[in-house]
Amino acid sequence: MVKCTFCGENLEKGTGKMYVQKDAKILYFCSSKCEKNQLKLGRKFLETRWSKRFKKEKREE
Ligand SMILES: [Zn+2]
Repeated sequence: MVKCTFCGENLEKGTGKMYVQKDAKILYFCSSKCEKNQLKLGRKFLETRWSKRFKKEKREE
C-alpha cells in the first residue's frame, strides 16, 4: 500500500500522483493540494492548518 507523502492517506493502486525528485526519491500524493504543499510551499504535515491531525492536536491543548 502506498501512502501520500504529505498527509499520509492511503492511495489505492492507480490513484494519486507519483513524483520523482532529483535525488531519485519517490513521493506520492493523493491530491494536487498535497503536491503543492509538499513541493512548492515546503510545509511539513504537522504545520499545515487544514490537516486533520493538526486540528485534533490543537483541540487537545
Ligand atoms: Zn495527501
